[in-house]
Amino acid sequence: MAFRIGFGVDFHQLAEGRELWLGGVLIPHTKGAIGHSDADVLLHAICDALLGAACLGDIGVHFPDTDAAYKNIDSKILLQKTVDLISNEGYTIVNIDSTLCLEEPKIKTYISKMQEAIADNAGVSQKVVSIKATTTELMGFVGRKEGLVAYATVLLETI
Ligand SMILES: [Zn+2]
Repeated sequence: MAFRIGFGVDFHQLAEGRELWLGGVLIPHTKGAIGHSDADVLLHAICDALLGAACLGDIGVHFPDTDAAYKNIDSKILLQKTVDLISNEGYTIVNIDSTLCLEEPKIKTYISKMQEAIADNAGVSQKVVSIKATTTELMGFVGRKEGLVAYATVLLETI
């Protein structure tokens, strides 16, 4: 059995008049993330970590933001497609660990819903999907509420 580790990071700007999708869940807030797709920063970081572990490039290679097919797409579909790509290479997910960095809103009460959405769309148990959250103590663009960041690490094993 072989193991592969992968890391992903993603950034999005926040703006009024956009929906805020995080971990596949719509979060009520005054601002949302700007992007070609639904701009789900957490799912994008997880997709990049999965692709990285399988040495398959990044999310921009597979789902380019110049392609109209991905305009406003639900990133849960991108996660499903990414899991298909790594499965085709002979890998299965051992676990996912992630951290969301944002100043507001507080997302603690949404974490179990996000774990469920990620588990359902990645075909794994919720017990192997970890989501943590932090602020940047008011520092930088996250602290100024201009944007948000997500980091993800995944472990894959050969089927
Ligand atoms: Zn993104």
